[in-house]
Amino acid sequence: MRSSDVLVVGGGIIGLVTAWRAAQRGLRTAVVDPDPGGGAARVAAGMLAAVTELHYGEETLLGLNLASAARYPAFVTELEEAAGHDVGYRACGTLAVALDADDRAHMRELHALQTRCGLVSEWLSGRECRRLEPMLAPGVRGGLRVDGDHQVDPRRLAAALLRACERAGVLFHRTLAERLTVVRDRARGAVLTDGQELTSGLVVLAAGSLSGRLAGVPEEVLPPVRPVKGQVLRLRVPPAYAPFLSRTVRAVVRGSHVYLVPRENGELVVGATSEELGWDTTVTAGGVYELLRDAHELVPGITELPLTETRAGLRPGSPDNAPLLGPTDLPGLHLATGHYRNGVLLTPVTGDAMAEALTTGALPDEARPFTPRRFSPVRQEQPA
Ligand SMILES: Cc1cc2nc3c(=O)[nH]c(=O)nc-3n(C[C@H](O)[C@H](O)[C@H](O)COP(=O)(O)OP(=O)(O)OC[C@H]3O[C@@H](n4cnc5c(N)ncnc54)[C@H](O)[C@@H]3O)c2cc1C
Repeated sequence: MRSSDVLVVGGGIIGLVTAWRAAQRGLRTAVVDPDPGGGAARVAAGMLAAVTELHYGEETLLGLNLASAARYPAFVTELEEAAGHDVGYRACGTLAVALDADDRAHMRELHALQTRCGLVSEWLSGRECRRLEPMLAPGVRGGLRVDGDHQVDPRRLAAALLRACERAGVLFHRTLAERLTVVRDRARGAVLTDGQELTSGLVVLAAGSLSGRLAGVPEEVLPPVRPVKGQVLRLRVPPAYAPFLSRTVRAVVRGSHVYLVPRENGELVVGATSEELGWDTTVTAGGVYELLRDAHELVPGITELPLTETRAGLRPGSPDNAPLLGPTDLPGLHLATGHYRNGVLLTPVTGDAMAEALTTGALPDEARPFTPRRFSPVRQEQPA
């Protein structure tokens, strides 16, 4: 039997940031994951898009997204120092454009919502958009300039978190957790597929889209997360074509969403589909076709670029598109999951919130609305 203060099940970016922050607070921390630093971050584009990803009904989540975006620069400085390498953070801003009258109407609605929420977003004509990004198609009808939505390279972020954890003394078990151990109505650790039994004062379930599938977790605290498939392409901008795009460009192309995220190292990420297909991660001809078709309408020159990679990953979706953070109704069991399409953006604030919850038992103010208890059946049945 091995024991720790905190056992994190799942070593994606959310499990890793939780483990790193816990270890920094002096907690003996272990992570179980067959492939720590992998997960959805291997696929994700890494947009830090609090403003351009705003949706109706997600104003509470917006507060958390903005809090995390504001922490990013300091978080990156600290993490790069701890890990000894950079994470590809780029304060480049975003341009969200429309190609036809319907797309433009949609964009106008988004702009109105952003303005109501007090966000900084400027409406530009098609010509002004093209002046900023000359590779845009002549048909662009207008768009929103959002200088506060930046980007980071999720693969580098995950690698840095892994390194920072190792340097902070986090212990890694490179295998799967098979079941949660519950003793006298309290989470006490986990049994691993290699037969090891780990005991721990606190267990954090951070297994991404698989968080709802760990055996031994009582039904009433099992997180209601589901996988939402996303296909993504990676292209390379040869030096002769640079700068191809100077900021993230995204669009609604006749109703479907597409984005192009240009990295400083010449990589161009084009994403992403959104498909409710269970745990399927097949890259399909249809998915690749739709992404290239829409990206080509937006930036015709894209067809000249070498296509270097196609991949699909799973976003951990929750019923209200917001994460589940902190203690559950099972003593000793915490959740850090359900980050859906904003997990990269929410990494800094999640690390802080989880460290606070693990050391004090309570979430900080900004994370309180994201308690897993909002989905607790017992509480919902209680009279108001
Ligand atoms: C196509 C796509 C594009 C995206 N783009 C963006 C973006 O631009 N911006 C943004 O902010 N977010 C984006 N996201 C979302 C973001 O990637 C996720 O929200 C985030 O990576 C989730 O991290 P996680 O650690 O919670 O889960 P995951 O990355 O899924 O990691 C879970 C980990 O748990 C491990 N695990 C599972 N079961 C067990 C078990 N039983 N025992 C041990 N380990 C286990 C897995 O091996 C995995 O490593 C995107 C996602 C996708 C798929």
